[in-house]
Amino acid sequence: MFFLACGSHGHILENLKNKYCVAYIESACNHCMEARTHADHMVITVYMHVHKDVVTLDGINTHIDFSGIQVYRIYHNHLQACP
Ligand SMILES: [Zn+2]
Ligand SMILES: [Zn+2]
Repeated sequence: MFFLACGSHGHILENLKNKYCVAYIESACNHCMEARTHADHMVITVYMHVHKDVVTLDGINTHIDFSGIQVYRIYHNHLQACP
């Protein structure tokens, strides 16, 4: 599992496990990767999927008045203005 607090480094900031060690086949945090054990390992950085940081229009339109604001939707990777 990624983006959970690292069990070994729970007391340090930025301890989310966003690294993946190919040699150990496990997720780890930045602090884990600074340890000597991973010095020769291939490490992949994992990025949180974009959609998790995106709010849906339905989710926020109760808080914001959208009248007068052009709304777009993504259709086949193109932005399309909604009528
Ligand atoms: Zn760690
Ligand atoms: Zn490693």
